[in-house]
Amino acid sequence: MGGTWRENTYPGLTCDVPSHAYTYSFEPNPDWSRFLPPGPEVQGYFERTAKKYQVEEMIQFNQEIIRCEFKDGRWHLETKSGLTDVADFVIAATGVLHHPSFPKIKGLDTFQGDVLHSARWDHDIALDGRRIGVLGNGSTGVQIVSALAARAGKLTHFQRTAQWIFPVDNVAFSEEQKAALRNDRALLKSLQNEETYLANVERFTNAVLDANSPEILEIEAIARNNLEQSVTDPLLREKLRPTYRAACKRLIYSPDYYRAIQHPNAELVSDGIECIEPTGVRTQDGRLHELDLLVLATGFKADQFMRPMNVTGRNGLPLNEVWAKGPSAYLAVAIPDFPNFFMLNGPTGPVGNFSLIDIAEQQWGYIAQLMELVRKGECREVEARHEALQAYDIARKEAARKTVFGSGCSSWYLDAEGIPSTWPWSQRRFKEEMSAAKLDAYVLR
Ligand code: NAP
Repeated sequence: MGGTWRENTYPGLTCDVPSHAYTYSFEPNPDWSRFLPPGPEVQGYFERTAKKYQVEEMIQFNQEIIRCEFKDGRWHLETKSGLTDVADFVIAATGVLHHPSFPKIKGLDTFQGDVLHSARWDHDIALDGRRIGVLGNGSTGVQIVSALAARAGKLTHFQRTAQWIFPVDNVAFSEEQKAALRNDRALLKSLQNEETYLANVERFTNAVLDANSPEILEIEAIARNNLEQSVTDPLLREKLRPTYRAACKRLIYSPDYYRAIQHPNAELVSDGIECIEPTGVRTQDGRLHELDLLVLATGFKADQFMRPMNVTGRNGLPLNEVWAKGPSAYLAVAIPDFPNFFMLNGPTGPVGNFSLIDIAEQQWGYIAQLMELVRKGECREVEARHEALQAYDIARKEAARKTVFGSGCSSWYLDAEGIPSTWPWSQRRFKEEMSAAKLDAYVLR
């Protein structure tokens, strides 16, 4: 339970979406400790919510689904431990960023110190006073460096591409503020409503639709000002200066990275990596950076979704064959030839600097409409039409090329052809699509 927040436990783990917006709509939480919630608090929130709504008792833990097959009008499931089940519907809520991506760097397997991926943290490995190298400067690498710079004997941050860092004040909520929220549910709800968080999301997601929109230029100006004001050494400042549009890669919100990287223990290394040797990382300038611990904050394989689960649709059609060129789904939810199979946070859905809980809730509202058709006896199977997916994909790719994500940087948002695979339209359009399912896009049997 908890997905991202269960699998990631690295030091400094923080959700960069405002805490009061990072909740289910039906379960606001007055007790967040800060504006940006620490990862373990988010995990605790999910666990508490699952208990409160008696979801926990429906979960069979530690069961890996290995087979999910559509046969004789129903889904046949099998787990690794041999359990089987038959279901009318399957909803895959298996997440996006959960298969760690390991860099292919010569000599990585020869390193004799400790090495770990950020999403597989080993808390038995010592940190204090050690020579720590962090590879990667996405949201994860930046948070780890911020947490460890003062603890390490020496911290070396290996950067391949500079990142835009957006300033944020991660204020702590006082006991008085929490008590006020506990006693006033309307006030608590207002923190996630249209005028506050959602209005900001709307502004941000409209801005990213056009790489040259005034809003994107404004975001870039704020991030540039953050760099100019926060980093005193001109050489370091130039190393940290990105050469692409802000928000092209997922924008990083950080209150403390620039401070951390200027800590006397810290060094930013932007020379390319030549190889890894038994005692450290050798960069292309010939320097050997000796390390005790190497942290790979190198991200995830974002195109796997529910795989390696073996999913087969109508007539034994394997999902791997359908997704051979890359994953796709009508409105990110449904796949032709896979009747009564739906996804939460599936491919081509909205991802970015906002709450995926909100996205999943909207998708659930949409899926519930389709399931209702079967429940009411109007049909037994609901399946997206091929033409609907094809038209959606053509329009989606055309729109995606214009977004800031497609403006000339590499990121996990891009598919194998280099086209952003994220929802390329406004949040309002997404909300409209999710609120009323258009049944002509489906075959009802
Ligand atoms: P990421 O954004 O994909 O970043 C991976 C980093 O590793 C990049 O800096 C990349 O450099 C570098 N890298 C990868 N392979 C490399 C190689 N062979 N040599 C050198 N550098 C290499 O991964 P992430 O930081 O784990 O973040 C993934 C996503 O998780 C985020 O975008 C966000 O959606 C989510 N996340 C969210 C939060 C939050 O606060 N809500 C926190 C952490 C993560 P290049 O840029 O040069 O490719």
